[in-house]
Amino acid sequence: MSQQEEVFAFNADIHQLMSLIINTFYSNKEVFLRELISNASDALDKIRYKSITEPEQLETESQMQIKIIPDKTNNTLTLWDTGIGMTKGELVNNLGTIAKSGTKAFMEAIAAGADISMIGQFGVGFYSSYLVAEKVQVITKSNDDEQYRWESNAGGTFTVVQDEGEKLTRGTKIILHLKEDQLEFLEERRVKDLVKKHSEFIGFPIDLYVEKSKDKEVTESDDEDKDKEKEKKEGDDKKDEEEPKIEEEQEDKKKEKKKKKIKEVTHEFEQLNKTKPIWMRKAEDITKEEYSSFYKSLTNDWEDHLSVKHFSVEGQLEFKALLFVPKRAPFDLFEQKKKKNNIKLYVRRVFIMDDCEELIPEWLGFIKGVVDSEDLPLNISRETLQQNKILKVIKKNIVKKCLEMFAEIQENAEDYKKFYEQFSKNLKLGIHEDATNRTKLCDLLRFHTSKSGEDQISFKDYLARMKEGQKDIYYITGESRAAVQNSPFLESLKKRGLEVLYLVDPIDEYMVQQVKDYDGKKLKSCTKEGLDLDETEDEKKKKEEEKAKFEPLCKLMKDVLGDKVEKVVVSTRIDESPCVLVTGEYGWTANMERIMKAQALRDSSMTSYMVSKKTMEINPKNPIVQELRKKAEQDQSDKTVKDLIWLLFETSLLTSGFSLDEANTFASRIHRMIKLGLSIYEDENKEDDDLPPLAEAKEGEANSKMEEVD
Ligand code: ADP
Repeated sequence: MSQQEEVFAFNADIHQLMSLIINTFYSNKEVFLRELISNASDALDKIRYKSITEPEQLETESQMQIKIIPDKTNNTLTLWDTGIGMTKGELVNNLGTIAKSGTKAFMEAIAAGADISMIGQFGVGFYSSYLVAEKVQVITKSNDDEQYRWESNAGGTFTVVQDEGEKLTRGTKIILHLKEDQLEFLEERRVKDLVKKHSEFIGFPIDLYVEKSKDKEVTESDDEDKDKEKEKKEGDDKKDEEEPKIEEEQEDKKKEKKKKKIKEVTHEFEQLNKTKPIWMRKAEDITKEEYSSFYKSLTNDWEDHLSVKHFSVEGQLEFKALLFVPKRAPFDLFEQKKKKNNIKLYVRRVFIMDDCEELIPEWLGFIKGVVDSEDLPLNISRETLQQNKILKVIKKNIVKKCLEMFAEIQENAEDYKKFYEQFSKNLKLGIHEDATNRTKLCDLLRFHTSKSGEDQISFKDYLARMKEGQKDIYYITGESRAAVQNSPFLESLKKRGLEVLYLVDPIDEYMVQQVKDYDGKKLKSCTKEGLDLDETEDEKKKKEEEKAKFEPLCKLMKDVLGDKVEKVVVSTRIDESPCVLVTGEYGWTANMERIMKAQALRDSSMTSYMVSKKTMEINPKNPIVQELRKKAEQDQSDKTVKDLIWLLFETSLLTSGFSLDEANTFASRIHRMIKLGLSIYEDENKEDDDLPPLAEAKEGEANSKMEEVD
């Protein structure tokens, strides 16, 4: 009894994706084969994994293999696997009605100039079959359902019907009805090359249905006519090969008159790949090309890897691993919820899972590879992974090997530069999270500095060129190199010839909280309290004098600014600017305040707790400060002095990297200065209405005005 065919509409995103695949001009169509083989291999992995706990699953079919069958008569290319197959429900959901997040992401990536060959990374590889096929049929048999046939010519719908054709034991047959201009994919040579190129390291046999012709002896009288026909059929291209054989034939005839040789064409399956896993082979026998080809088949990356580490651990516990550093960070490296597909876990050659989080810490989330354990139980479940001691030891070893690999990349400056551009954030995250390996990770860091120009240097380089007698390592954090390199905080340090590290990546603020020192030298922030620059006796004496001399001004400034500052002191870190605002040694820097403000979901109750009290430091060498001191001495209650103190405070907020909470008040103060500069004296009453109140005005001194300056 034949079943009714059901018609389904593709999900809108998938429909759009299929149109894009069909209509985009794209010459590298061969990627479809890699994608379909990869799906077949996944399906085989799934049934093998399932059979660990349910051995009866293999009763329907015990062979695990992939077959490729070109059919030149019907112009079809068939991929046939004995994997897990799909139930009717899975068929409908997986191939058409449920779009994955990658569907949209892939189209966006294409619009942004990505290559279609990246399709596999987005989890929509199946649809690449429409690069070469005008119609695709999927016949599938799961152990849990009847045999079904899916069919679509990509016109927005697909059909599903129970399949009454030749019975599959279990698995999936994908029949591609090739477009007229894609018949090259029926050629044996082409398919062989493609499998070699993209799918050599698939862990199941890939068998290609090939034509073989061989010589066969028959007696002359037997089927002379038939033989002649056959020879004709074999086609022109084989003629050259055949000619010498005809001569041989005649010789044979002389010897044994009744026998003659003919060519017989047969078909058979030929295995195209070696299935011995590459990680089981000796590292010294594996070429760079083989690693690269394995890496590509593992990750769907279209570029070679940057670095590889192939090792085995023996002893109490045994495992083999192959780890890769890609050339580029993936588009969603720090996306929290995405399913990671980084380290594949195998147990004694059996694939267990794709994204074993227990094998590698999050900060190494960019490492790709495989781990094959001899000790884990085959039926290990996700739930028991977390407590598993073996996994913990494996993880520790993997981290160690990764660090070794990064150190090796350092030996090639060019490669390390690429690596650092892509993954420095991960290293810094590692410093934040991994206390055990902090020192090793610190060795991998690179910084721009006040002296390095376009180059970046390591801590080691910094130490090597420290000035004689220099005790500490100086750094400044900020929004960008441009923002920090002219910071007033560096004035004195620069003058003394001290090098300052620029930490201008937001994550640096978090990282530096964990790095208190390097090789016995303390790390000192130039923008925080506790920056004790070495002073000569003369300098010390001079500082004491100045401290005494400027004491009254400091006190006045503190009185005027009130809560806005913790204290006002004479500075040694500025050389030209009039003043800066420094933060407490253990509180946030201005830069950290900026970063935290930008985080929308942060808990704001923390803010008031962590926002440092600011210390205002004034520069006794600066003429503005000197003049202000004189004025303040003359009249402590001079309104102009107070206004100027506010202006100095607000400008140093800006130069010290803070943001202005009341930009308008600041602006109106500046405007009054501008008017003064331009000698504009407006009607006082009118102006009163236009201007926002001065800061003090809010505290009740409404009649303070800049106009009183003159
Ligand atoms: P991906 O394989 O990256 O998940 P695809 O678009 O290639 O994305 O395939 C969609 C889904 O269809 C797969 O996740 C799988 O569940 C199912 N599928 C595809 N090919 C096969 C196959 N040969 N055997 C069983 N299931 C398959």
